[in-house]
Formats: sequence, structure tokens, C-alpha cells
Amino acid sequence: MAETSYLGWPFFEERHRDLAARLESWAQNELPKVVVSEKEEQEELAKSCRNLAQALGKAGFLAHCVAGPKGEVMDARSIAIGREILARHAGLADFVFAMQGLGTGPVSLFGSPAQQAHWLPKVIKGECLSAFALSEKEAGSDVASLATTAVQDGDHWVLNGGKTWISNAGVAGLYVVFARTGEAPGAKGLSAFIVEPTDPGFSVSEFIDVIAPHPLGSLLFKNCRIPADRLVGQTGQGFKIAMATLDIFRTTVGAAALGFARRALDEAVERANRRKLFGHTLGEFQITQDRLADSAVEIDASALLVYRSAWTKDVLKQRVTRESSMAKLFATEAAQRVIDRAVQIWGGLGVVKGVPVERLYREIRALRIYEGASEVQKLIIAGRVLSGEG
Ligand SMILES: Cc1cc2nc3c(=O)[nH]c(=O)nc-3n(C[C@H](O)[C@H](O)[C@H](O)COP(=O)(O)OP(=O)(O)OC[C@H]3O[C@@H](n4cnc5c(N)ncnc54)[C@H](O)[C@@H]3O)c2cc1C
Repeated sequence: MAETSYLGWPFFEERHRDLAARLESWAQNELPKVVVSEKEEQEELAKSCRNLAQALGKAGFLAHCVAGPKGEVMDARSIAIGREILARHAGLADFVFAMQGLGTGPVSLFGSPAQQAHWLPKVIKGECLSAFALSEKEAGSDVASLATTAVQDGDHWVLNGGKTWISNAGVAGLYVVFARTGEAPGAKGLSAFIVEPTDPGFSVSEFIDVIAPHPLGSLLFKNCRIPADRLVGQTGQGFKIAMATLDIFRTTVGAAALGFARRALDEAVERANRRKLFGHTLGEFQITQDRLADSAVEIDASALLVYRSAWTKDVLKQRVTRESSMAKLFATEAAQRVIDRAVQIWGGLGVVKGVPVERLYREIRALRIYEGASEVQKLIIAGRVLSGEG
């Protein structure tokens, strides 16, 4: 039985407890009926992601990932709860849920009413998958150095360049692409655009296989022409738009890590109680208890940091650069340790393909790299500490 006592913490309202109960029940009863393929073939993965998006949309959960029709802002606590619960059940379900929000985050936060009315209902229904295209081969951690350009040509923008590591590449119906428009050097000269896969000059140039398979690839823009009204926000606002989106979603990467960690601890406890060695259960040995205690403490500490950050965003309505960096850094690093301990407790079985702890071992790894690697989060936190901002 999943640990739910944290839902009694003062960070939450009744609507959050209600969401958690409905999603837990859906994940237990409906999720197994949706095809979730771990096959590495992009077509199979794409099919699974579309099925998951439609199922999550039909059940009404995707509405929590985007701005509401009356201008309601995204609720970080709801997205975090959604990611935590889905990650505990199936990494691909968490991926689909998160990407619907991350990909359309710039539209939710900075899009025109017309852009929001056109795109968000399709995303909520799970009819259109979305992608967030920021990274490039030479611009990963150093985002501000990105080189893809967008030049205005009459009532169109023309994009040239390439993006890589783009989740939902080849599956998405909506790509928010960050490109250099040159209002100023570096971070201040970027803008955000909506690109559709049918736009002339757009292509998916490669698919990338990763250890925890999900649709991932590189994009190519070759004189890609898009109408002027696809600009999101103002020109020169691209970096601000990307960072404001990550300000919400970084916290929720921590929430996904928390979900993976909770599942790993559940699996470790179950095995420790069942496995007999030297006339005892594994859980009767103090070295096992030491591992379980460390994991339980790290999970609670992660949850406190994740939901402190989400609450600060929602209730105090502040930027949470520091809080979200702390939540992502600690929760992802801790989850890696918790999962590694669970694999150790499972022994040889822990490295057999398809066993839950083996899957978790692969799934957690990328979270310490994307949306700002752990080193980048430390730089952000240290920057705040050094400047006296806390
Ligand atoms: C599975 C996956 C999904 C992704 N999905 C998306 C997506 O949907 N959209 C998108 O735009 N991008 C996405 N990314 C890209 C991701 O955000 C980048 O991989 C990340 O920003 C790191 O960039 P990089 O891979 O180029 O590594 P680099 O920038 O080359 O960094 C390599 C390593 O250097 C270290 N490092 C970085 N900075 C410092 C420093 N200042 N000091 C010391 N060490 C440092 C870190 O350990 C880092 O991992 C995804 C990546 C992965 C792996």
C-alpha cells in the first residue's frame, strides 16, 4: 500500500487529496488496460504514448497540466502529485502527463488567448501531444548559447538550425521551439515559437534510443516558414519564457523522482520481508534495516522539498528558482540512492530485465541530467546563497 500520510501536510487542500485518491484509483484499475510498451521501437513507443495521453485525457487528468479556460494558472502541487503517483506506477505514464504540461507551458504562461484557445483543449483531451524544444548539440547546460535562428520575413518567421534531445520528437503535434531572434546578445536575444510537424522545412532528423525508452529525437529546421502569429509572447522573451516554464516543471521532476523512490522502497520492503537467508528474513538483518531507514528518511526529505517548492509557487505566488533547484537536486540524487539500495536488496533478481527495481534503475538516471543537471542546480543554489538571497 502506497504511503499517503504526506497528503495530510499543510501544503495541501482537500482538492489535492481528492486528485490523489482519484489518480491512485485510476492508476491501479485503468492504467494496466492501456498498452504500455517498453519496446524500443519508436512506433511502439509512439502508440503507447498516444494511448496513454488519450486515456489520461478522457479521465480528465491532463487539465491539471495546463492553464484553465478562464485564465486559471497551473497548480504546481497538482502537477507534482500527478507525477509522483504516475511515476510510482509507470514511468511512461508520468512522461506523457509531464510532457503535456512542459510542452505547452510557454503557451499556458505567455500564449495569446487565440493560441491558448486553439491548442490547450486538444492537449487536455490527449488528442495532441506536445514538445519543448530548447536543447541543441552545442547548447545543453549552456542554454543561452543556442544557435537556431528565426528571422522575420513579411508575415512569416523563417527558422534555421537544429534541436536535439527533444522528448516527443516525431509524436508531437505541437513543438514550442526556442530560437535566436537577436534583439540582444546571449539570453536576451531569444524568442519562442509554435511549430507544427506539417510546417514546410520541419523534419525529425533522427530518433535517439535511451536506457529508459520514450520518444526522443532531433529536429531540423531548413528555411522552416511559420506564420507570424506563432510567436509566443514577445520577441526577446524566449529565455524568460523557458525559465518561467522550468520554474514550475523542475519541481515536478523532483516529484517524479519521489514517485520512483517510493516504488523502490515498497519493492525493497516487500523483498526484505519475503526473502529468507541464514534462517532469517533479509529484513531482520541490521544492515538491511540501515538501508531501509536511510531510504525512508531521504524520501520524506525529498517530499518536503518538492511540496515546499510547489506550495511556495502556488500560494506565495513567488518565483521558486532556489526552491525548485533544491527540490530537483535532492529528490533526483536521493532517488538514485534509494533505487540502488533496492536493487542491492533484490540481489541477482534486481538486475534482471523487467523486474520493477531494474526498470527504476534505468528510469531514474536521466532525471539527474535533464531540465538542468545536478551541477547546474548547485550553481543556481550557490549563486543565491552567495548573493545573500537565501
Ligand atoms: C532523456 C532526456 C530527455 C530530454 N528531453 C528534453 C526535451 O524534451 N527538451 C529539451 O530541450 N531538452 C531535453 N533534454 C536535454 C537536456 O536538458 C540536456 O541533456 C541537459 O541540459 C544537459 O545538456 P547536455 O546533454 O548537452 O550536457 P552538457 O551541457 O554537455 O553537460 C554535460 C555534463 O556536464 C556537467 N556540467 C554542466 N554544467 C557544469 C558546470 N557548470 N560545472 C561542472 N559540471 C557541469 C553535468 O554533469 C552535465 O551532465 C533531454 C535529455 C535527456 C537525457
